[in-house]
Amino acid sequence: MTITSFHPPQRTLMGPGPSDVHPRITEALARPTIGHLDPEFIRMMDELKSLIQYAFKTSNRLTLPISAPGSAGMEACFANLVEEGDKVIVCINGVFGGRMKENVIRMGGTAITVESDWGRAVDPKAVEETLNTHPDAKILAFVHAETSTGARSDAKTLCELARKHNCLTIVDTVTSLAGSELEVDEWGIDAIYSGSQKCLSCVPGLSPVSFSEAAIEKIQARKTPVRSWFLDMNLIMGYWGGDGKRAYHHTAPVNQLYALHESLCLLQEEGLENSWERHKLHHQALVAGLAAMGLEMLVPEEERLAQLNAVVIPEGVNDGAVRQQLLAEYNLEIGAGLGAFAGKVWRIGLMGYAANQTNVLNCLSALESALL
Ligand code: PLP
Repeated sequence: MTITSFHPPQRTLMGPGPSDVHPRITEALARPTIGHLDPEFIRMMDELKSLIQYAFKTSNRLTLPISAPGSAGMEACFANLVEEGDKVIVCINGVFGGRMKENVIRMGGTAITVESDWGRAVDPKAVEETLNTHPDAKILAFVHAETSTGARSDAKTLCELARKHNCLTIVDTVTSLAGSELEVDEWGIDAIYSGSQKCLSCVPGLSPVSFSEAAIEKIQARKTPVRSWFLDMNLIMGYWGGDGKRAYHHTAPVNQLYALHESLCLLQEEGLENSWERHKLHHQALVAGLAAMGLEMLVPEEERLAQLNAVVIPEGVNDGAVRQQLLAEYNLEIGAGLGAFAGKVWRIGLMGYAANQTNVLNCLSALESALL
């Protein structure tokens, strides 16, 4: 049998990611592929770096997109900053904090965990106590926007605590970048990673990262080589590092990088702060509509993410049947709960291009009819 071209259905993506891709970004993907060392491509890379710096609010020179998804950005931070025996304090309030811990162990470090309830922000008091009891800790790692629960942690305060205790910070902003306030330089974040597929509305598969001077110093002073060749920043710096040389490291995903460039141009046109505000506005409308239907949110108001809304599934409602109905009848994807929240919450994403009034209204009316 001859297999024919794949044509996916046209969905509205209101789950935990990927989010709807802006048409200007899909158009950018279809532009001619050129060599990844072509002078025009290199010019685009320079622009891309400054656009990522804009989105992160940083002037870090080591700012670039890793050619792989958010998990690779996470791994790049841990692989480069953690050395055998390093003590790393990892805050866990959902699935992705757990993945951070796994990274520390695999890089030969010792993970000291600070557990907070799922559905709540990381507790700064518990972090401070742990920093006090482990004065030899080198790094504090936490997730800014926990996609598994919809909780936002106070990254500014956690970074202040880390600095006070001479720790570097590794911060996961896969879901927060462009959707929530995020100030890399002002808050003093040392290593940060994100993903292309959430509030940037780009295709999945790229991870913007950025490292402070203190982080670069630690990477360059390592006694042992980074355990991953592909993610070794010492090597990647030769291609992206800004010394003008652009040595071959790996073949860059040329067209995907056009897409990321386009998504960041869109962000800059809108204005970063306006993007944060737009997410908040549509989140408030969604929450008001859900409340009118008698549905409750999992996360307390002051700790809620705008872009990931965890909604408690009412008693007696069949989680899978509702999500299936939304997909089949409305082409609308919302997310299931993860881990302990499987079958207990829905995760409704309002990310990037998908954070708009039409989506909020469609989602509310589709949910209402499914729950009738
Ligand atoms: N960290 C967080 C908070 C995430 O939400 C995700 C993905 O959903 C990841 C890390 C991993 O990113 P990716 O799936 O792109 O590898």
